[in-house]
Amino acid sequence: MRHSSTSPGRRLLPLLLAAAACSSSAPPPVANTSWSLTLHGDSAATPHPVRGPAWAIAIHGGAGTIARDAPAAELAAYRTSLERALTVGRDMLAKDATALDVCEAVVRVLEDDPLFNAGRGAACNERGGHELDASIMDGATLRCGAVAGVTTVRHPISLARKVMTETKHVLLMGSGAEEFATSVGVERVPNDWFTTERRRQMLDEVLRERAAKKTAAATPLLRAAACGTVGCVVRDGKGDLAAATSTGGLTGKKFGRVGDSPIVGAGNYANRFAAVSGTGTGEQFLRHTVARSIAARMEFGGQTLAQAADAVVMHELDRDDGGVIAIDGAGNMVAVYSSDGMYRGFADADGRFEVAIFER
Ligand code: ASP
Repeated sequence: MRHSSTSPGRRLLPLLLAAAACSSSAPPPVANTSWSLTLHGDSAATPHPVRGPAWAIAIHGGAGTIARDAPAAELAAYRTSLERALTVGRDMLAKDATALDVCEAVVRVLEDDPLFNAGRGAACNERGGHELDASIMDGATLRCGAVAGVTTVRHPISLARKVMTETKHVLLMGSGAEEFATSVGVERVPNDWFTTERRRQMLDEVLRERAAKKTAAATPLLRAAACGTVGCVVRDGKGDLAAATSTGGLTGKKFGRVGDSPIVGAGNYANRFAAVSGTGTGEQFLRHTVARSIAARMEFGGQTLAQAADAVVMHELDRDDGGVIAIDGAGNMVAVYSSDGMYRGFADADGRFEVAIFER
């Protein structure tokens, strides 16, 4: 067993080379902004390697066009919010909480934070309302639950977990999901409780831009306005993996549109090889079944987590489509994204605790 040094293992060059080597036909990426931490040696493509009981957690608050020249106070507020959520996860894992419990609890914190595009602060659809998507998955058992297009559920991630534990199904949507929410008694709020002034302004801008260009294509502004989906991936002390993702979707999205976040294997996935949470242009994540592809490359292609995540995000997706956080059975964590930045954080049992937005 090989332990990493105490400083973060930031290995951009090896990742670039590995990604290039494993996809001979694909063109080199325009820019590789991946950032990786190695916690317990290089990823072995076997589930549950015999390693120490160390836990590890990665979170994200979205990837996209994040303004580098944003006021320092604004960026500091994001860091503080990420640290708050990461602290909840770290403290739970230090007390032997399960990966699933941690994922749900951390995403609930992020859903309540108006800075992020999930729960309160969710993006507005083209009508100015909110339709929320979320999913959660247990890597040890492949049990999973998801909800799409819910409008009054304060914590969609908890309803997704109830779908997993209280039904025989995986995904409930719309009015059926709302009815189920009533039957299991999760907290409800009026739809405008999710609205923030900032998201309302973003919708106005997106609709103006769309009208001017007479197109519904994903413009840079549209992508920027989508930023803020939240996710969490965990390897707990037993070595089990879990992933959870929650979002308000894309600003100005069509009424009834469902993105990748509640679709198992697209925006969220966990098995014994990897747990992955994605953020970005959901349609692209759906087309490329991003989260499952990363785990499958490890399982069937023998790739490491870093290789698999780089291959999918940097070679299969287009530039600016977004990114993922992911963790493997050995506790290796990566954040790979092709956009300008990604709100993210990492912590582990060795005392590492860091958040980042632009840093490599
Ligand atoms: N992937 C989300 C969606 O398309 C949005 C995001 O992650 O920013 O619904």
